[in-house]
This record gives sequence, structure tokens and C-alpha cells, in this order.
Amino acid sequence: MAEKKITKRSEDYSRWYTDIVQRAQLADYAPVKGCMVMRPYGFAIWERLKEALDKMFKETGHSNAYFPLFIPESFMRKEAEHVEGFAPECAVVTHGGGSKLEEPLYIRPTSETIIWSMYGKWIQSYRDLPLLINQWANIVRWEKRTRLFLRTTEFLWQEGHTAHATEQEAMEEVRRMLDVYRRFAEDHMAMPVIQGKKTESEKFAGAVDTYCIEAMMQDKRALQAGTSHFLGQNFAKAFDVQFQDEEGRLQYVYATSWGVSWRLIGGLIMTHSDDQGLVLPPQMAPIQVVIVPIWKKNDDKAKILEAANQLKEDIATVATVKLDDSEGVSPGFKFNEWEMRGVPLRIELGPRDLAGRQVVFARRDTGDKSPAPMDAAAEQTKVMLEQIQTSLYDIAKTFREDNTREIDAYGDFKSFMENGGFASCHWCGSAECEAKLKEETKATIRCIPLERRRETGACLLCGKPSDGRVVMAKAY
Ligand SMILES: [Zn+2]
Repeated sequence: MAEKKITKRSEDYSRWYTDIVQRAQLADYAPVKGCMVMRPYGFAIWERLKEALDKMFKETGHSNAYFPLFIPESFMRKEAEHVEGFAPECAVVTHGGGSKLEEPLYIRPTSETIIWSMYGKWIQSYRDLPLLINQWANIVRWEKRTRLFLRTTEFLWQEGHTAHATEQEAMEEVRRMLDVYRRFAEDHMAMPVIQGKKTESEKFAGAVDTYCIEAMMQDKRALQAGTSHFLGQNFAKAFDVQFQDEEGRLQYVYATSWGVSWRLIGGLIMTHSDDQGLVLPPQMAPIQVVIVPIWKKNDDKAKILEAANQLKEDIATVATVKLDDSEGVSPGFKFNEWEMRGVPLRIELGPRDLAGRQVVFARRDTGDKSPAPMDAAAEQTKVMLEQIQTSLYDIAKTFREDNTREIDAYGDFKSFMENGGFASCHWCGSAECEAKLKEETKATIRCIPLERRRETGACLLCGKPSDGRVVMAKAY
């Protein structure tokens, strides 16, 4: 195992990111350009994410199902804005079984159309509503510029698709799921997010409104981490999905859709990691604790391993734990390797520790080392994992706050954006000003925050009146 250094963040942030993904064995480039292989360690993080979110979806009344990968071209064309938004980035199958297909098949770029064609069959009466379905699936969007986890041609995600009798109920669902995403990002990923609404030009193709969670990465760019869409009756009308209400009248159904993808893993890496490698919050770590036994003379070894195995059993009652008793590499090498792979807590156990019935804890996030009695190791593990989880969140939140400014002059905004950060600015609401902002500064309006105070001001770009601030930033 040749040790390859990770590029420092200050040298080249984007190389640093790629180095971590590859050195920590999270993912690798696939033979097809833009595609990615998720390696077992990366997939284990994905599984933790999936498990936690899936539980939250079920707790809010949703069931999982699976819809096909192929979508008939005619389905894609039924909702005008939807096809306009997605067609340019779709992969289309024209041949199958050696002959040309009568109708080309789109590989799903998202599943509204195929799902609403089925909802048309399943929904007849108000008794069939609400219909609350989620699917875990792969998606293809033909991206020109790709980046491991953050933007790949094929990616894994989940997409929720729900049908409701009333607009109010659908809007409640949109906000409920946005809040599920917020809770997941903050409580599990230790990644603080801002909840907000997208502008007209940034919303999902075919939606009435798109809501999002936005996080700040360590290079002060924004990452759109999840979206929840209010689709109104657009898809119900496109697929003629009507239901009979309690008075026997026919009405179109209201729809929502919401999704997060493996992009979240990119966000996780860029929120917490450092120049030594990956840093994972305990809730997301496939291995929460690694025990590294240390021995020099052969006569110590059996006793140390016996104690290490006992320790592993104790720790396993409170955390996922690995005992690294591999031969042929030094403890120092093991320390580096597990640090690089982001294991939150290391426990060292050497001959002197054994003699004193103690162990040494080392935190991945701070590098702090502290001894603890061997009998209290499990209890101590629990406490420290909770501390690490909280501390990572607090640091990320402080970082975001330190790099967020209210800015009122366009000149100040431009110089602020050279270093990056979130700017909280007035905007008149016009698409012209929004386009100008993007053109001149490469920053975009990330969202109109849900928690914004009413405040009169002048648009950063044109000076026209505005009644509140929006979040502007450069984004991934
Ligand atoms: Zn303006």
C-alpha cells in the first residue's frame, strides 16, 4: 500500500475533494464518461443515509414501490414545461432486440410522467387519496460537466410522488417533506441547511413551486441538497387524473414530488472533511469506532488481542466497531489510514494501557487524545460520539454564519463574491435582474428563505423596491 498524500484544501479545493473520494475508497470513475462506481465504503455511507431517510418516510405515511426505467416518448411530451426542461439532457433508446423501436424510450430523468400514467389507473375516488409513494431508483441525466457524487450522468436517488384531494393538503406535504430533509441533513449529517423557495427560473420543470434546502460547503459555495415540489394539477391534467369528491363531482388531483440523491454524500464530504482526509459525523459513519491494538514483543500480543476482543464486544453494544488486528503494518500506519477514512473515534490499547486497565481515545474531528478506564469504555464511547456529532454541526453552523452577510451595494457584493459566501440581499423579483446577477457575478439566487423577515429595501441590481432579502451565492 503506497501512501499517497491528499492535496491540501488551500492548494486546490477541487483536487482535495477528488483525492478524498478516491483515497477513502468511496467511489471511482467508470469506463463511461460522467458515470461513477460507488465502492463498498461509499455504498455503506449510502446505506446509512437510505436507512435513516426510509424510516422517516415511513413514519410520515409513505410506502415504497418501483416504476420502470423506460418512459415512452409520448409520456414525456404530455407536460410541456417538463419536456422542455428535461429533453435536452435525456438519454433515449431507439433500438431494442436488434430492431428500431416504434416509439423511442426515454431513460427516466425523473419519474413524474410514468408514475402519473399509473396514478390515472389507480385513482378514481376521494377514498383513493392521499396516495403517498416513494421509490429508490437510479436516474440518468446527460451532464456535460460531471464531478464524483455531485453531478454524474447516472445517479442513485429517491423520489417521492404523492397525490392529494386539495391544494392545501398537497402544500402541507411539500413542506412536511422539506422538513424531513432538513431534519435528516442537520441531525444525521450534521449539515446545517437553509429552507427556502426557488425563484421562477430555478424551479423544477413542470412545478408550480419548488422548495429546497441549501447548505454551505467549506469553499463557501452553496450546495442544493434536496428539493420538494408543489406540482399543482399540472401532471393530473397532462395524464387526465381525476377523482370523484365526496359530493360526486369530478376534480383534478394535486401532486407533489420530492427527492434527494447521492449528491448528499458529496455535501457530507465537503462540510466536514479536512486535509488529513474524510471526517464523518458518527450518525453517517459505517464504522464509528476502530480499535487499534498495539504490541511490540510477541509475549504481549495474545493478552492484548484478548483484551481488544473483549473491548470490541463491549463497544459493539453502543456503536459499530472494527478491531484492526491486521499484521505487517505499524500502528501509526493504521492510525493514518482510519483517519483518512473518517472513522470518528479510535481506541488505542497497548501493553501499558492493559497493565493500567485503561484505553486511549482519539477523536478524528479534533485530534484530541484522552485516557479512560477500560470498564467505562463503552459508556465513554457513547458520550464521545454524541459530542462529535454535536460539535461537527456547531462548527459547520458557525462557519456558515461567519460567511453570511447582509449586503446592499452591488460593488460590495462583487468583492464579497470573490471570496465566496452567502449574501443576503434585496431583490425586486424580476427575472431580468436575476439573469443579470448570474451573468455578471456567476452567483445565483439560491432561495427565498422561509424564515425571512419583512423588510423594505432596494433591489441590489436595479434599485426598485423589495420587501425582503434572498440568499445569493455561487453554487455547485
Ligand atoms: Zn431588480
